[in-house]
Amino acid sequence: MKWYGGIEAGGTKFNCIIARDPDHVLAETTIQTKSPDETIPDVIKFFEDSKQKLGISLSSLGVASFGPVNLSVDQPGYGTITSSPKIQWQNTPLLDRLKVNFNIPIMFDTDVNGAAIGEGKWGAGKGLSDFVYVTIGTGIGGGIITNGLPVHGLIHPELGHMVINHDRTFDPFEGICPFHHDCLEGLASGPAMTKRWGIPTQDLPETHSAWDLEAYYLGQAIHNLCLVCSPNRIILGGGVMKKPGLIEKIRLTAQSSLNGYIESVEIKNNIDAFIVAPALGDRAGVFGAIALASLAFST
Ligand code: ZN
Repeated sequence: MKWYGGIEAGGTKFNCIIARDPDHVLAETTIQTKSPDETIPDVIKFFEDSKQKLGISLSSLGVASFGPVNLSVDQPGYGTITSSPKIQWQNTPLLDRLKVNFNIPIMFDTDVNGAAIGEGKWGAGKGLSDFVYVTIGTGIGGGIITNGLPVHGLIHPELGHMVINHDRTFDPFEGICPFHHDCLEGLASGPAMTKRWGIPTQDLPETHSAWDLEAYYLGQAIHNLCLVCSPNRIILGGGVMKKPGLIEKIRLTAQSSLNGYIESVEIKNNIDAFIVAPALGDRAGVFGAIALASLAFST
């Protein structure tokens, strides 16, 4: 019986877990994200202490990290957090620093790819070889699963920064992305909504027109993802998606934007099962890390 270690490395906290699957969890903790020199030793200590207390060993470790990260296995910087907006973490060789302390296989990927893998193994993407997981919260990111594996390629998908139609007479807000201003994340992330409307996202009433505009932008993103990735399902998670009624609005705006172009029953007649919420909820990331760890033994 294998036990896996999982690290969901986030910009505000590191969730660490020892588990086999969502039904078998031995230990877990949350460690605040401070500087790398403070946080990484705390993470290592959690696993060392837990292993000793439980009298177990770990078969492998999965790390689902905030980024951007270097995922080029054949490059010296593999497993490094690169141009992160979290200044202290820029150019942190997270994987190498963990490798020094763990003499087991370590699988490393982005937080969103990890969450996508977790949803694919135990959640809303179960049984599908091609789907997209998108998280809409402080930022917008996503994992694209193709043939059962996350797309990496040149770096990794950064679908939050796709360009979408922004009619400035309709929505004069400039956008907040420091790189592109009015990319998807610049217009539709939680902080973008807060800045545009002057009200924290969670406090915007369900009846506020903010949610129609939000659905308009996310519907466009889904239009693009359907045409580019041809997924069998799109999973929408993250804090912003917790607003009741939003996913229903997005199903309509996505259908309207695609305008019948894709000849599929899923989009035309069964959109409720095509655009869905994550089944693992806030646990997608940490169990994604466990799913990543299990990939060490899948080939
Ligand atoms: Zn951007």
